[in-house]
Amino acid sequence: MSDCLFCKIAQKEIPSKIVYEDAQIMAFADINPVAPVHILLIPKKHLLSVNDIMEEDEALIGRIFAAIKELARKLEIAESGYRVVTNTGTDGGQVVGHLHFHLIGGRALRAGLG
Ligand code: 5GP
Ligand code: ZN
Repeated sequence: MSDCLFCKIAQKEIPSKIVYEDAQIMAFADINPVAPVHILLIPKKHLLSVNDIMEEDEALIGRIFAAIKELARKLEIAESGYRVVTNTGTDGGQVVGHLHFHLIGGRALRAGLG
């Protein structure tokens, strides 16, 4: 996807503050953080949203959650707690059309959703 913002970040055509990277996934700081910790985790492969995840992507998604767990530990929010959010589609409030998981923490988040 040549004009996808997060593909460009994955390919380092657009700079970002990378906190984790391997061959398949990348984690970088959100440009407009809503909490002291606000990291975005993406597959490097372009998937539009959760709706695009296929059976062949199960290991990839598992890898993203393994990275979330490890980052939470490294950033010392594993014990205090954190939130993982994936906005999907228009009603879900998804703005960037490349699957991403928000890792948010470092303060007490408001209880509840929506
Ligand atoms: P969404 O609403 O699609 O779930 O979230 C998109 C997120 O991407 C927002 O939290 C927004 O701040 C972040 N974002 C948008 N553009 C950029 C960018 O160029 N760089 C980084 N690091 N984050 C971005
Ligand atoms: Zn993309």
